[in-house]
Amino acid sequence: MGWWATGAKQADQEKKDQARRGASGRRFWLKVGESRKVVFLEDVWPSSPEEGKFWPDRTFSVYEHALRLNNDFKQVEFCTCTKGLESEFGPCEVCKRRWKDGSGKEQVFTRLYRNFTTIVDMTPWSSDDGSKVYVCSKRILVLKGEVFELLAGKGKKKREGGDPQGLKNWLVDISRISLMRKAKGQGGKDQEMAPRTGNDFEILGKVASPPQLPVKLKMPDGSDHPGLVMPDGKPLDMAPFDWPKALAPRSASEIEGLFSSNIVMDDSQARPGMTASSEAPSGGGAKATAGAASPGGEAGADEVPY
Ligand SMILES: [Zn+2]
Repeated sequence: MGWWATGAKQADQEKKDQARRGASGRRFWLKVGESRKVVFLEDVWPSSPEEGKFWPDRTFSVYEHALRLNNDFKQVEFCTCTKGLESEFGPCEVCKRRWKDGSGKEQVFTRLYRNFTTIVDMTPWSSDDGSKVYVCSKRILVLKGEVFELLAGKGKKKREGGDPQGLKNWLVDISRISLMRKAKGQGGKDQEMAPRTGNDFEILGKVASPPQLPVKLKMPDGSDHPGLVMPDGKPLDMAPFDWPKALAPRSASEIEGLFSSNIVMDDSQARPGMTASSEAPSGGGAKATAGAASPGGEAGADEVPY
């Protein structure tokens, strides 16, 4: 029995939708030159050796499509592809469909193999009306290619060094350091190739239990950062995302609705510098790391982080 059967299949549709909406809107990303401090809520392991199977000591991984709606790069929907999961979910509803590129040619939708881990972004933000200040928020860190290998290596090093939790509960300073490269087929123009999820990771220290940061962080006004707490002062829920629920494939009718009320393009191919195929379960390679992550991982102000 596959792992989906115990998770997504039994969840009622509403809960599933809720979990997924939360998950797709909370992808972590950085601007070029930016650094953020985050806490890892899961260890990072090499990806599952078998598609569609849950391995407890592996980082959760799945194929997904990035759909751009109405050619608006801020409207991107991530849809889990059922490749490898057909016995439980049937053929993928997105793979069945085609989209039209700039020249009117019909194209298939790219599927990207990605790894997912839960982090807490320690950067404070406030709701639009200023009524609530979130000092930290749970986020999805999408890992691909070299960055995934790098973090899996760091996790291994921690485990071999005697910490069975690996990277879990470590405070890490993530930076996105510019990597300008000449991209093929772009008229020789330099392109930013630094992964949106960052490419430099400085491990700062381990979070103590009950959750307490290993180093003092500051709020923008210079006061002490209160740490891993909700706006009401209650401790933040430190449980990782429930991946089989959060990334459950959408129903046929939901996909139908998405396609019938929007012009849908493949976001992965619509981005300059992106190359279409990324089938390798090892992570997608350098081409896919450049720009395929969320176009807007920031939570909207009305979203309540959890
Ligand atoms: Zn698919």
